[in-house]
Amino acid sequence: MVIAFLKRLFGGGAADAAGAPPAAAAPASAGPKLRTYKGADLGIHREMISQAAIRTCEILQRAGYKAYVVGGGVRDSLLGLTPKDFDVATDATPEQVQASFRRARIIGRRFKIVHVMFGRETIETSTFRALQNDAETDEHGRVLRDNVFGTQQEDALRRDFTVNALYYDPIADQVQDWLGGVADLKDRTLRMIGDPATRYREDPVRMLRTVRFAAKLDFHVDPATLAPIAELAELLENVPSARLFDEMLKLLESGHALACVRRLRAEGLHHGVLPLLDVIVEQPHGERFIEVALANTDSRVRAGKSVSPGFLFATLLWQLVSDRWQARQAAGEHSIPALMEAMDSVLDEQASKLAIQRRYIADMRDIWGLQPRLEKGGRGAARAMEHLRFRAGYDFMLLRVEAGELPEELGRWWTDFVDGDSATRETLLDARPGEARAPGTKRRRRRRSGARKGGESGGDAGGDDGGSPGDGGDIGDAGAGREPDDDPRWREVPGQGGGSPRDRDPPA
Ligand code: ATP
Ligand code: MG
Repeated sequence: MVIAFLKRLFGGGAADAAGAPPAAAAPASAGPKLRTYKGADLGIHREMISQAAIRTCEILQRAGYKAYVVGGGVRDSLLGLTPKDFDVATDATPEQVQASFRRARIIGRRFKIVHVMFGRETIETSTFRALQNDAETDEHGRVLRDNVFGTQQEDALRRDFTVNALYYDPIADQVQDWLGGVADLKDRTLRMIGDPATRYREDPVRMLRTVRFAAKLDFHVDPATLAPIAELAELLENVPSARLFDEMLKLLESGHALACVRRLRAEGLHHGVLPLLDVIVEQPHGERFIEVALANTDSRVRAGKSVSPGFLFATLLWQLVSDRWQARQAAGEHSIPALMEAMDSVLDEQASKLAIQRRYIADMRDIWGLQPRLEKGGRGAARAMEHLRFRAGYDFMLLRVEAGELPEELGRWWTDFVDGDSATRETLLDARPGEARAPGTKRRRRRRSGARKGGESGGDAGGDDGGSPGDGGDIGDAGAGREPDDDPRWREVPGQGGGSPRDRDPPA
């Protein structure tokens, strides 16, 4: 699959690059020439850099070390974008870095970096590293160890793209460029450092990074950087699935997920990078929903809000679940068991390909599992609101409304219900079509076992906190329409958030 992607994406004409013996990256001794720029001349200044990153550089420089902001923080600032985070590179060893700060932790055993903490901000600080020509690799050239310290120049050479190898000294207000990154930035060109085929062999994830940065930055990809990908795409199969999952998440959480996917589509890239991406770009019916969901994710990311991976993956796989759910119902199955089976089959299928973590799988089940209740609204509403993951399920339902999958009226009803006080909720329950009580009938009061569950929206949920006298606060089920509340699979498991018993199984 992976193979097909890059082949399709980047087409033919790559044989020469892939077939040629890998040429080594320019040796450091040949020396790329250092160019320096005043920050202000390039439109970057201290105020764009996080205080924590500036402090990290200041403290290290005062201790006699070199220290620069590097990578995405510099690149994005130069482009006028808001960087996701700021990394620092230094000639101090991890131990020396740690000794320079009150709150610093060495992370990793082989590839040690230091997390320097200021308040809630963490600055990843790494020691200059060299690309070794004799590094230990697997049989395809993938570098297995990469932990040899080097000079700043060598550190620049081992980075992926020229625009990612710019060093900014926030104290001297100076940009240092060893590899022409500033010129590439101006031309909006993504260019791999060294021989692209070799660099992809060393670390196939760089192919995904090429796609992600090209889409995120809206850059043109240098032809030599593009060419080897079609041939080398299959090397992605050797990359541990957890790392692929991380890279996928970076793509989806880049704030430009929709642009990435559109770009993949525009280039005819309908298959292959990763199984999940196939699902996203190839959905026959779900295009609108995916677009709405990705646009929503992008605007959350850009507004600095968090994105829950469980929610994200629930949206990406929803169309598959929904299609199978409907097919099962059409074949005569009851709604809830049909949904559970549809969820299981999609998750089983994906789990074998994508290392989605268990806790995310549990979130996804809860979010999907809440949908039938949310579609119904009405009397089960209060109890649905007590669900640990109600808020996520509700947000998910609103996306379905926005995508035209559910009537707008339903979204409005829920929003009024969620925002309303108990009197408003009573009125809404009576107003919901098909939910009005026959005059004189009493709602059955249901005893709840155990304490109410907490949860984001649980505080004022339901009527326990005072309904009208005689009516009881709790809004129980009245006769018909008992599913899904009476289905044992719906009962919340404390700390687990409910769902089917299979929630507790590992995702294969
Ligand atoms: P962003 O954080 O916005 O996604 P970034 O460029 O900061 O982009 P990171 O993954 O945070 O990307 O990596 C920080 C820097 O480390 C990069 O800019 C690059 O210089 C270097 N780097 C990261 N991954 C690789 C890689 N696979 N090969 C070579 N260099 C890399
Ligand atoms: Mg970064």
